[in-house]
Amino acid sequence: MEYNSKNIEKKWQTTWSETNAFEPSDDQTKEKKYILSMFPYPSGRIHMGHVRNYCLGDAFARFFRKSDFNVLHPIGWDSFGMPAENAAIKHKLHPKKWTYENIDYMRDELKSLGLSFSETREFATSDELYTKWEQEFIIEMYKNDLLYRKSTTVNWCEPCHTVLANEQVEEGCCWRCDTPVEQKEMPGYYVAITKYAQELLDDLDGLKEDWPSQVLTMQENWIGRSEGLEFTLELSKDSRFKLNKSFSNYSVFTTRPDTIYGVTYSALAPEHPIVKFIVEHKLLPENKINAIKEMQKVSERDRATEDKKGVSLEIDVIHPLTGETIPVWVANFVLSSYGGGAVMAVPAHDQRDFEFAKQYNLPLKQVIVGSEGLIEKPTEAFTNEGELINSESFTGLKNTKAKKAILYHFEQNSLGSKKINFKLRDWGVSRQRYWGAPLPFVHCDSCGLVPEKLENLPIALPSDVEITGEGNPLDTHPTWKNCACPKCGSQARRETDTLDTFVQSSWYFLRYATNPKDWETTGISKKDSDYWMDVDQYIGGIEHAILHLLYSRFFTKALNKLGYTNSKEPFKKLLTQGMVLKDGAKMSKSKGNVVDPDLIIEKYGADTARLFMLFAAPPTKELEWNDSAVDGSYRFIKKFFERSANVTKESLETFKNINHKSLSKEEKTARKKVYEALQKSNEVFNKTYTFNTLIASSMEALNALSAQKNEDVWTEGYYILSNILEPIIPHTCWEISQNLFEKENFNNTIEIKEEVFELDSIILAVTINGKKRCEIEVEPNASKEDILSIAKEASLKWIEDKTIIKEIVVPNKLVNLVIK
Ligand SMILES: [Zn+2]
Ligand SMILES: [Zn+2]
Repeated sequence: MEYNSKNIEKKWQTTWSETNAFEPSDDQTKEKKYILSMFPYPSGRIHMGHVRNYCLGDAFARFFRKSDFNVLHPIGWDSFGMPAENAAIKHKLHPKKWTYENIDYMRDELKSLGLSFSETREFATSDELYTKWEQEFIIEMYKNDLLYRKSTTVNWCEPCHTVLANEQVEEGCCWRCDTPVEQKEMPGYYVAITKYAQELLDDLDGLKEDWPSQVLTMQENWIGRSEGLEFTLELSKDSRFKLNKSFSNYSVFTTRPDTIYGVTYSALAPEHPIVKFIVEHKLLPENKINAIKEMQKVSERDRATEDKKGVSLEIDVIHPLTGETIPVWVANFVLSSYGGGAVMAVPAHDQRDFEFAKQYNLPLKQVIVGSEGLIEKPTEAFTNEGELINSESFTGLKNTKAKKAILYHFEQNSLGSKKINFKLRDWGVSRQRYWGAPLPFVHCDSCGLVPEKLENLPIALPSDVEITGEGNPLDTHPTWKNCACPKCGSQARRETDTLDTFVQSSWYFLRYATNPKDWETTGISKKDSDYWMDVDQYIGGIEHAILHLLYSRFFTKALNKLGYTNSKEPFKKLLTQGMVLKDGAKMSKSKGNVVDPDLIIEKYGADTARLFMLFAAPPTKELEWNDSAVDGSYRFIKKFFERSANVTKESLETFKNINHKSLSKEEKTARKKVYEALQKSNEVFNKTYTFNTLIASSMEALNALSAQKNEDVWTEGYYILSNILEPIIPHTCWEISQNLFEKENFNNTIEIKEEVFELDSIILAVTINGKKRCEIEVEPNASKEDILSIAKEASLKWIEDKTIIKEIVVPNKLVNLVIK
C-alpha cells in the first residue's frame, strides 16, 4: 500500500469534477452554510497567500458539507483593474486576452489543490453580464441619491493616470505603485457612503462576537464619529471690508466646547473658501501667497506627517462669548474634509493647537486646571479633566459638566448647535481608465447628465483600443463615446470614466447567491439571497479591513434599500488570515523568497501543501515557510495512508461493537486519543479555528493507534480520522474512505462515545506531614477507606513506627497523613 499522491489526487479531482460533487442543492429547505474566501485578482499565477486563503475556506466548506449542510462555496475572478493595462502596455497584449488567459491558467492551479468549489457559479467581474447588472445598480443608486457627480479636489496618481479614493492613498502614496499622490481639481462620480455612516458604525455592534476586534476598531476609527458644537465666528468689521464683503462669517466645529474661553486664534484649512479667495485676489504679500500655494499642493495625508505650518491671514474674528478679537491663520493641520475646514484653536488644551502656537508665538490661555493648578511654563497641552477657570459664569464647573452647559448656552442663545461629525468621506468611484466597467451615463447639451436606458445595458467596452498608458483610451477612441441622448434622442457623449474595481467586489457575494440558471434575467435574486445570505464564514487578508469590507457592508445596505436583497450585513463571521513569510519576510519577487505552489504540489502533492498550510500556524498568525515541516507533513500523510492496511476485512463487520471495558490500557488510550481528535474537530470548525491543534491531535491519535494491535480499534480509528481529516487532506481521505468504508463515514455524523473518556484509575499523591512521599493509583470511584488503606500500605516505611493523628483525603488530588 504505497502512498502515491499523484495517482490519488488526479483520480479524485477528475471524479469530483465529473460528478459535480460540490454543487449546492436547489433544495432551500435544507440548513445552509455559505463559505467564502475572498476572490482572487487574476494576476497570472497563484501564490502561497492564495493557497492559504483557499485551503482554509475549503476546510470549512468540506466540514459543513459532511455535517449535512447545503454548502455554497463559490469562486470567481476580480478581473478588472490596472495590472491588465500595464501588461497591455508592456507586452502589447489586449487586457481582455491577458486577463482571461490568466484566469484559465489559475483555474487549473486551484483545481490542482483539490478545492471544492462550485463550478457552475464561477464568473469574472469583467464578464459583460456582470457589468450589465452592476450598471443597473449604479443607475438605481443615482436615481435614489446614493450616487452623484461633482467637481472636487481629488487624489491623482500620475503613473497610474487615475483618481484614487482616500482609502487607496497610503502615507501619501498610491496604494498600487507607491508614487506620491498629487491633488487635482476634477469632476467625478461619488457614492454617498456618508449617508450610512451612523448605520455602518452602529451595526459593527452585531459583529462583535464574530469579527476580529482589530477590524472593528479600524472601521470605527475610519468612520470617525465625533459629537460636538458647531457655531459661527463673525469676521470683524475691518476684515469684512478686507475681503470685499464677500464673507461675513464661517462656521467651526469643536468637540471641546468646555475650552471655548481658551481660544486664542482660529485656523482654516488651505482649501477653505476664504483662503482661496485671499489667494485669488492676492490680498496678502506675495511671499505669503506663495507659502499658501505650497501648502495647497500637499495632500491631506502628507500634511498629517509634516511639521505644523501656517500663515497669518491678517484678518480677525470675534469670540462669540467674550467679544474679543481673534487672529485667523491658515494651517496645514486643519482638514478641509472635516468639520467645515475651520477650527477654533485652544493651544492650552489641544496638542496640535499647542504645537502650532509655539511655532508662531501665539498666546496660550489656560481655562481648565487639574489638581496641580495653573501651569507656569507648559511644555505640552493640558488635556486632562479638571475645573474651569477664566470662563465667566462657567468658572468652577467640572469640565465634563461645562461641556454640556456651554453647548446648552449656545443653543439657548441661538449661537450654535450640537452637531455630529464623521471622518468618513463619500467614495469617489470614477477612474480614467479603460479596463473597468463603464459608468452608464450620457452627457447631453440640452438634458445634462442622463442615465442610460436599462434596456441598453450593458454598456460594453470597445475591443479595438490601443493601450499606451497615456490618457483614457475610451476618451481617445474615435467613435465609442458618440451616442444618442437616452432622453431627447439628440447627439450626445457617453461618459468615459469607468468604475473603481472595488465596486465589483462590493456585491459579488450576492451574485454567487443567485442561482446561475437565472443569471441572464436577474442580477440578484431576492429569494435566493434570503436563503443563502449572509455569508456564514468569510476568509481573507487583514489588509482589506477598511476598503473592501467597509464598501461591501455599505453596498449590502444600499442594495437592501433599493429592494434587491433583505440582507443588511454581508459577512456573519470573518476570519483574517496572516501572511505567508519566508526567512522572516513576506514572499515577493523582488526579495527572491517566493515558493511556487505548483512546485510544491508537483513534488509532494496537494494534500501535503494543504496540511502544511493549516498545521504550520494558527490561521490568524503569520506563517513562516519551512521546508522540513513540509517534509514532515508529507511523511505524516504517507504514514496515515499506509497504516490503513491495519484495517482488516473482518473488523469492518465488528468494529462498531467494541467492548471498551475489556480493552487493554494501550487500546483504551488509542480510542481516547481518536475521540479527543473528533471532539477537537467540532470545536475548531465552529469556534476556535485552530486547525493546527486538530492536526496535532490526529497525529497523536495515529501514534496511539500504532502502539496497539486491536483490529477493531484500528478500524474505528480510521473510520473517525479519515472523516475529520477530510477537510484538510481530502484526496487521501476519500481514497481511504472509499476503499474501507465506501464513504459511509462521510455521510453520518459520528457520535462521541463518552465511555472512552471514563478514567480507569486516578493517580493521587501521598504526603506525610505535608511532604510528598509517593503516589498511588486508585479506581475512580474508590471509597475513602480503600484509598486510605492503599495509601498507608504504599507509605509503610515512613509511618511504620509512628502514630497517625490525622488522615485527609482531597478527592482526585492527594492523601495527607499527619504523624507523630
Ligand atoms: Zn499609482
Ligand atoms: Zn438630451
